[in-house]
Amino acid sequence: MNETSSSANRLLILDDDPMIGQTIRRIAKMAGWDAEFTTEAELFFIQVENWCPDMIAIDLIMPGQDGVQVMTQLAKRDCRAGIIITSGMGGRVLDAAGRSATEHGLNIIGVLPKPFSPAQLRNLLTSETSVETNAGNTAGISAGIVQNRSNPSLNPADLQQALAQEQIQAFYQPKINCCNGSLSGFEALARWQHPTFGFIAPDHFIMLAESHQLIEKLTIQMAKTSLTWFSAFCQKPEIRSPSGINQGQLLKLSLNISALSIGDIALFEQIESYCQDLNILPEQIIFELTETSAMEDPTASLDTLTRLRMKGFQLSLDDFGTGFSSMLQLVRLPFTEIKVDKSFVLTARQSQESRTVVKSIIDLGHSLGLATTAEGIEDQETFIYLRENGCDLAQGYLIAHPMPANDVDNWIKHTGIDGLFREKNA
Ligand code: C2E
Ligand code: MG
Ligand code: MG
Repeated sequence: MNETSSSANRLLILDDDPMIGQTIRRIAKMAGWDAEFTTEAELFFIQVENWCPDMIAIDLIMPGQDGVQVMTQLAKRDCRAGIIITSGMGGRVLDAAGRSATEHGLNIIGVLPKPFSPAQLRNLLTSETSVETNAGNTAGISAGIVQNRSNPSLNPADLQQALAQEQIQAFYQPKINCCNGSLSGFEALARWQHPTFGFIAPDHFIMLAESHQLIEKLTIQMAKTSLTWFSAFCQKPEIRSPSGINQGQLLKLSLNISALSIGDIALFEQIESYCQDLNILPEQIIFELTETSAMEDPTASLDTLTRLRMKGFQLSLDDFGTGFSSMLQLVRLPFTEIKVDKSFVLTARQSQESRTVVKSIIDLGHSLGLATTAEGIEDQETFIYLRENGCDLAQGYLIAHPMPANDVDNWIKHTGIDGLFREKNA
């Protein structure tokens, strides 16, 4: 049973129905996986310890320990495998089980409602979601994705040094127009290129920067680097239209702003001065603030945001749907864009609830006269759903992963800036 010498990815299945367990095992094997299944929770936990699966498929409803109890146990054991939840229960129960597992810190790949087709299972097994493989490298990773090496312990002195040595880099993720597929702009996302740990994702260091008074420096470095790149990018002959219209001036760059910086007038003045020096119009810059940050001090936010809008800068409400703001608070602040949080977009394909939330946010945005962007689009079905429901702009791995500046030119060469998505949608 323990074919530990094989280099294939390993899938461990726990299902009280042997027929279903065998079927999943067979489909996985045909997709090139090493797969084992068991009907007993006890045996399952021994297998988890000894066989170290990369992916685990768990049935939700089982006699004895049910799927939720099994996942709680897995979370306690700090299980890093990707998890697929399978069940004949209705979508809402499956969604709730998925949410509960995610909140326990498990790496949920997706839910598989029974009955399922081989293609549905194969899609999950080959999902772009990164899975640490038993060989220690990362599966499904394409160029430009940050490798989240196992929680490097970072301290403020490291970060201070990284800022002094300019180890923080900007990666760029394209945003496209949902209707015609043309390029709308890029979001700049911070990456720390650590000499020992490699690329570190911002979730590991933005909070560190915020709690040690380093966020202003980080934001200024990110703004300087990305504005310099963006200005040069917009001037490229293939971006400037031959007809004389400067298409480059229609492109936008989104910068993430920390909650702590809302009242930092000097920071915004510095960014404004970079824009002037680099010939970038304020209308081309979108400051992204999260819902909670904008609501923390609504009066200060109102002042700063109104002044920024008066200068022509665009303002985006990032990760919308995860905070608790009321419509009234929203209407008070002069945002120009609303970004549907990726947690709803990522689950839109399998969750009716998520689709309802996504649609309501698009409708709310439009009724307030805001542009709507959905981020976290990983599959064509979700993209089509968003377009059909009037979402304006799209961002996600389906279109492109965040990438270093050098890769953007290549990406543009392959896709062009007009109608990137036309062929795929035809
Ligand atoms: P965010 O601003 O909401 O950025 C979107 C995040 O979603 C990025 O994660 C991006 O890589 C990820 N993403 C985009 N498309 C997909 C997709 O299709 N699937 C999945 N699973 N993820 C997708 P990233 O780069 O790890 O950044 C995380 C957060 O860190 C950002 O969330 C932002 O809040 C913060 N951040 C990043 N750069 C900066 C920065 O320069 N300053 C500040 N203050 N915060 C930053
Ligand atoms: Mg953002
Ligand atoms: Mg976001």
